[in-house]
Amino acid sequence: MKIYLNSIKFNRSLVDGPGVRTVVFFQGCDLHCKGCQNPSAWDIRKGTAVGVEELANLLKKEVCNKKITFSGGEPLMQAEGLIALVELLADFDIAVYTGHELCDVPKRLLDRIRYIKTGAFKEELHTTVTPFVGSSNQEFRRLH
Ligand code: SF4
Repeated sequence: MKIYLNSIKFNRSLVDGPGVRTVVFFQGCDLHCKGCQNPSAWDIRKGTAVGVEELANLLKKEVCNKKITFSGGEPLMQAEGLIALVELLADFDIAVYTGHELCDVPKRLLDRIRYIKTGAFKEELHTTVTPFVGSSNQEFRRLH
């Protein structure tokens, strides 16, 4: 199984969940929020295809503290690949950033991750003070 990636930021984000985190940006987003910071991630055909096992091995090798956030783009566009990936990273502290609501997230994914950010970005509700979200309608939750 392949995942279409936009990019990876290794071991240096402080704003995508607790701690210093690696952020994996999935390619492809069907929500097209007004004011999106990353429109280059919308078209899934422009992503780099990487095998799930190959990506898991890369993350195991390069992520020094086992803290990873899967963002995008919209990672739920590739939900089966994402679930397969997190199954291979069972001892990692994983956060997922989705623009969808919690009721839309597969339980098989929720059971395997520690944090989730839900809700589409709304430009008129943009915030720089609420931790780990871009607009005040979004929610960042600890699951386990
Ligand atoms: S969900 Fe995220 S990547 Fe997609 S359009 Fe909205 S802000 Fe941009």
